[in-house]
Amino acid sequence: MQNRLFIDGRFVDALSGRTIDVLNPHDGSLITRVAAAEAADVDRAVEAATRAFPAWSKRDAAERGRLLLKLADRIDECTQELAELESLDTGHPIRDSRGIDVPRTAACFRYFGGMADKIEGSVIPVESGFLNYVRRAPIGVVGQIVPWNFPLMFTSWKMGPALAAGNTVVLKPSEITPLSSLRIAELMAEVGFPEGVVNMVPGYGVSAGQRLAEHPGVGKICFTGSTATGRRIVAASQGNLKRVQLELGGKGANIVFEDAPLEAAINGAAWAIFHNQGQACIAGSRLLLHERIADEFLERFIALARSIRIGNPLDPQTEMGPLTSAEHHQRVLQYVQIAHNEGGRLLAGGQRPAAFPDGYYLEPTVVAAQPTDRVAQEEVFGPFVTVLRFSDDEQALAIANGTEYGLGSGLWTRDLSRAHRMASAINAGMCWINCYKRVNPASPFGGIGRSGYGREMGFEAIHDYTEARSVWVNVDATVPPYYRR
Ligand code: NAD
Repeated sequence: MQNRLFIDGRFVDALSGRTIDVLNPHDGSLITRVAAAEAADVDRAVEAATRAFPAWSKRDAAERGRLLLKLADRIDECTQELAELESLDTGHPIRDSRGIDVPRTAACFRYFGGMADKIEGSVIPVESGFLNYVRRAPIGVVGQIVPWNFPLMFTSWKMGPALAAGNTVVLKPSEITPLSSLRIAELMAEVGFPEGVVNMVPGYGVSAGQRLAEHPGVGKICFTGSTATGRRIVAASQGNLKRVQLELGGKGANIVFEDAPLEAAINGAAWAIFHNQGQACIAGSRLLLHERIADEFLERFIALARSIRIGNPLDPQTEMGPLTSAEHHQRVLQYVQIAHNEGGRLLAGGQRPAAFPDGYYLEPTVVAAQPTDRVAQEEVFGPFVTVLRFSDDEQALAIANGTEYGLGSGLWTRDLSRAHRMASAINAGMCWINCYKRVNPASPFGGIGRSGYGREMGFEAIHDYTEARSVWVNVDATVPPYYRR
């Protein structure tokens, strides 16, 4: 298990010698101690990435792509090992780590590996006598800050497009879940990524994260995490006016209309909120039910929620594991109290299951509330769904658009016109119709409003990791000189 910083192709201790305890969310036991990067370590990493940039950016794009493709193959070969590491560190059920996190990580690196030599510029139709073409050039050293909810997958979402486009990277994994990212760094060294192209500096946000966001040698910072930290990132980035990309929180509205395919909607709504214990920015954490089907839907939805198998993430039977940290567990539990104080009705869950007194577990929790209540406005980020009722499309839309967030959203209906009408009216970066939480490396992912800006995945991501460089050529010898003498 790698537990040191990865700088300039080598695993090294932090200059301060300090470490962070990495805990197992299943029982709070110590997994390992990981070197804690601070500002001086981040500086070393940025220097290494700066040295590596000229050669990496000039390398044949196809060669950069081949390395990403080799990495994807190695990830496939290490599926079981990576899945176990991710489950141990984050609490993801192993069936999800093995069936979703690892394959999606490999798929993302593979997609961008294939794209590396397809990043085309354009020729712009300008006045005659001139040729104007636009190249997409890499930015330089990019800083990337990853949260604890999907550390392995997000490592690929961030690094795949950045490296394919010819940037070099300094990535800060979360201090809570650094292990799978460090293993990816090791695999990258093994498949032949040159020294300094990728650097990883696990450490606390206030020290390592802050330094990366403000570092004058970093050309872009890409961040996933809370809206509050996103604001700090923007402030820290101002010194050198670096580019900023933010993937922040969400309060996904998942709308079930009266004509919905009910069985699929019940299953999909449970997946939307309970997958990864609800720790997903795109989680369908607001369940909007048409009043005509609400009672039947809830009865069946709650029965399904109660049947979800909670357990040790490493048990292949487990469908829901613990929350990822003790602190976060406490935070989510507080929302049960907040709901109660505001007059919300607890319909299911709300307790730590008795079978797991030491782990950070929480039963699937269903609360009925009003659209303006805190539990309907704030991101809980747990297996906690807020149920809201509506009577017509207009009201559903008003509720859906009634938060400051705009990331994921879903709707369930058999009416094609209503589906497209609502999909275009909901303020969200992504809308899923009769499904939820579909993600593919080819499809742009990101939010609007307080959910952030910029897009991960697809050509949009490449766009965000490159700069347009415009070149003008005077191809017509007859063009008159500016000053006639
Ligand atoms: P956070 O925003 O504090 O942390 C995310 C990452 O940012 C971590 O790597 C952290 O070390 C780093 N960071 C923290 N402070 C920083 C700073 N000042 N400068 C630079 N980097 C900094 O999020 P959290 O504490 O891990 O979680 C709190 C809440 O954030 C969650 O409950 C949830 O609402 C939200 N969240 C959203 C996502 C998402 O996918 N959009 C992921 C994780 C958390």
